[in-house]
Amino acid sequence: MEKQEYLNFIEEIIEKDIEENTYDGRVHTRFPPEPNGYLHIGHAKSICLNFGIAETYKGKCNLRFDDTNPLKEDKKFVDSIVEDVRWLGFDWEDRLFYASSYFEKMYEYAVQLIKKGKAYVCDLTPDEIRQYRGTLTKPGKDSPYRNRTVEENLDLFEQMKNGEFPNGSKTLRAKIDMSHPNLNMRDPVMYRILNATHHKTGDKWHIYPTYDWAHCLEDSIEGITHSLCTMEFADHRILYEWFLKELNIYQPKQIEFARLNLTYTVLSKRKLTQLVEGGYVSGWDDPRMPTIAGLRRRGYTPYAIRDFIERTGITRSDSIVDYAMLEHCIRDDLNKNAKRVMAVLDPIKVVITNYPEDKVEELDAENNPEKPEDGFRKVPFCREIYIEREDFREEAPKKFFRLVPGREVRLKHAYYITCNEVIKDKDGNIVEIRCTYDPKSKGGWTDDGRKVKGTLHWVSARHCIDAEVRLYSHLFTKENPDEDGDFLENLNPESLVVLKNCKLEPSLKDAKVGENYQFLRKGYFCLDRDSTKERLIFNRTVTLKDTWSKIEKKG
Ligand code: ATP
Ligand code: MG
Repeated sequence: MEKQEYLNFIEEIIEKDIEENTYDGRVHTRFPPEPNGYLHIGHAKSICLNFGIAETYKGKCNLRFDDTNPLKEDKKFVDSIVEDVRWLGFDWEDRLFYASSYFEKMYEYAVQLIKKGKAYVCDLTPDEIRQYRGTLTKPGKDSPYRNRTVEENLDLFEQMKNGEFPNGSKTLRAKIDMSHPNLNMRDPVMYRILNATHHKTGDKWHIYPTYDWAHCLEDSIEGITHSLCTMEFADHRILYEWFLKELNIYQPKQIEFARLNLTYTVLSKRKLTQLVEGGYVSGWDDPRMPTIAGLRRRGYTPYAIRDFIERTGITRSDSIVDYAMLEHCIRDDLNKNAKRVMAVLDPIKVVITNYPEDKVEELDAENNPEKPEDGFRKVPFCREIYIEREDFREEAPKKFFRLVPGREVRLKHAYYITCNEVIKDKDGNIVEIRCTYDPKSKGGWTDDGRKVKGTLHWVSARHCIDAEVRLYSHLFTKENPDEDGDFLENLNPESLVVLKNCKLEPSLKDAKVGENYQFLRKGYFCLDRDSTKERLIFNRTVTLKDTWSKIEKKG
């Protein structure tokens, strides 16, 4: 991994806090997802940052579900998030928390603020609240309910809690300043009425806290030292600090950093939900999705994702990262670690006419030239093989170094062959190619100094196994899918191509989900989780061609 040499601005703040003993030298972060969707690569940035900081400074990092909105949340999202964070390689030990387990405590804190005259029950509708709020240039107006007595507020708030009012009919608001230059300080809502069933607390609660009210309390209760969040919360920091100060309880430090954005995709749970619910993809873990589950199914490794996040760096200014950089990171990893095998995706049969009819040879094939310690495997060779249809041309330009009538090419790990005859059906389609082989070229070389330019991959027609192979490209045709309003208009109709008649070398019958392979000359592939013994399915993770290295060199 390309570990940065310098401190990012967050590490600088933390080192200063350690030096000055601000939190008794403690470092305690948290990753606080809302369980309303699967995690995406943007979340990976927050995960790597929070858990990474804890690792670096021998501190702690909590996994905390910010489950304050029962309408959109679900246990299945909780489970997927737990699985994804663990898969990325991070450990929260026994510190898995739920905001919902603090609901009682939050309620008590709200009562404290009411008693202090710092919160009130308001009957304005959400629309009216918006109208009363004013704008950046115009101060807001006080709510007519702002001056209710403490007793009245306590009474109404308790009734709200007990489910005595319909949804949305009242709110609890902080009493701050309706002409504050920061709109978040104009009597922000702390609780709204929602008679809904929560996946953890069931029907116990009829009021649910807003993000601003809940998040600072969650951080404070857990003794978080550095609360790292994305830039859109910068304007909320003042409120985060106000609540904790008014309650006179422990105050963490909120620090904002820029979100990760990636070309050719969208990173917003709302949009990803639309893709799933609209059936534009097969699910949250569709291999084209920028979700952790999608990337995993596609064949990405935790190492590659962490390496990618490391390279993007932590800043306060927004930027969009090129998708090619993510692909570069997975290629880098798989080039070093993926086992090389042979697979023919679009087969055409080759008959080697001078090879004995019933002879079979088990040839030695190197598993990974980048890792000689991975050794060799046996690949069967016989009179009939398959090669890639595109590797043969009847008439070819000079630069075409593959199979052409009369020309000799090398079969990887096997022999030199020369094409002598082409068999066609009555419509003129090529159905078979006939070649002869040179028995003296075993292993794919001779000692007579003969030059053979092309090397082709192949599989034995008698021994190969059938598979379906899925090729993926970007989900969107535009670098910025949102550029002209509706991202769904920019879906790439060719993001998935399914090849049904692929032929794989027999060793792949033992392939397992989670293992990565390089299909020689064709890219990196992995077994899909829907694969069965009867129907093998492989996903292409990425092609072999690296566009990022080129960009980097040019830049
Ligand atoms: P989305 O905008 O995709 O709906 P969110 O911010 O609502 O995401 P949360 O579950 O609240 O999703 O996010 C958990 C944490 O991950 C938050 O601290 C959030 O700031 C962070 N996060 C979300 N998206 C990104 C991103 N693209 N880059 C970096 N951090 C992110
Ligand atoms: Mg959020």
